[in-house]
Amino acid sequence: MSVPKSVALPGGAQIPAVGCGTWTVWQAAPGAVRDAIKAAIAEGYRHVDCAWVYGNEQEVGEAIEAKIKDGTVARSDLFITTKLWDTAHRRGAVTEQLKKALARLRLDYVDLYLIHWPTSFKEGDIDFPKDDNDKHIFEFHDIQDTWKGMEDAKDAGLTKNIGISNFNSKQVQRVIDGARIKPCNIQIEVNPLFSNARLIDFCQERELTVTAYAPFGSPNRPWKKSDDPVLFEQPILKDIAAAKGKSPAQVCLRFLLQRGLVVIPKSVTPSRLKENFQLYDFELSEAEMKQMFSLNRDHRVYGQEITLDHPEYPFSIPF
Ligand code: NAP
Repeated sequence: MSVPKSVALPGGAQIPAVGCGTWTVWQAAPGAVRDAIKAAIAEGYRHVDCAWVYGNEQEVGEAIEAKIKDGTVARSDLFITTKLWDTAHRRGAVTEQLKKALARLRLDYVDLYLIHWPTSFKEGDIDFPKDDNDKHIFEFHDIQDTWKGMEDAKDAGLTKNIGISNFNSKQVQRVIDGARIKPCNIQIEVNPLFSNARLIDFCQERELTVTAYAPFGSPNRPWKKSDDPVLFEQPILKDIAAAKGKSPAQVCLRFLLQRGLVVIPKSVTPSRLKENFQLYDFELSEAEMKQMFSLNRDHRVYGQEITLDHPEYPFSIPF
């Protein structure tokens, strides 16, 4: 099965199907994200995923500026995504935070702006406000109002496209029901151990394109438990990779591309950046796709710890 190198957004723009993730908070040394994005753009990546809360928009901006200055790319060649953080969900705060993000990124606009999470924290300069009992301090904002702020940002030309991330089906529908401009993309966790199939179907039926984050199940996440399944050690995956002469990482990414998803693997390692971008010289058969689907354990690695104590948006809603 052939897969396109980009996915059309409902408004007509194209989102490159393989992007470069940048969430590295605990792992990367200063300058590592800048160097990785420079290496990624030199390798051919044209899509970069970052976020206010990753604290690395500055480095991503430096890398983009360097690669534009050295003539490798023009701004219009790139597709840059960033995300609104939970402390700026008031309608008027959305554009305020995006303007600050653009200053950090040294850009006039982003290609895609996403609401990072449906949950809202207390507005202010502290990204994770907590009370004396070490509990997150939430603040209520109707996601339909936050979405109006996203529409304002698009109207102002600060972002070409707007979307959401980590929303469940109920929240997706609520945004759509109140929208003047419908969300064109949702970014959610998807990897062979967490197929997220019901939510993907739900979103695609409503014309949202879907970006799969943590395509490898974020193997070096600091909160990994000793009994968590390890994706790269699954025999089915290792066997398919060996048969194809590809790495397990490449097979995971190809599996997700053949599901019609956009992927944003993260690496700060030049050889892995290269590997993760070489996905178009092989394909998985129907039988191999079925085998890959059989790896699903509904094993989610992101999000529970923030949202479980939230009164309004329990993450336990099944999809
Ligand atoms: P991931 O991409 O599943 O895994 C990244 C890890 O895999 C890194 O430790 C990386 O190591 C390693 N790796 C990369 N390529 C590899 C390869 N070819 N072989 C072996 N190991 C490899 O996890 P993620 O970073 O959590 O997710 C990807 C991106 O999605 C993030 O960076 C972020 O941009 C986005 N994201 C979004 C959300 C959201 O809430 N919207 C949540 C999570 C992630 P090295 O870097 O050391 O090479």
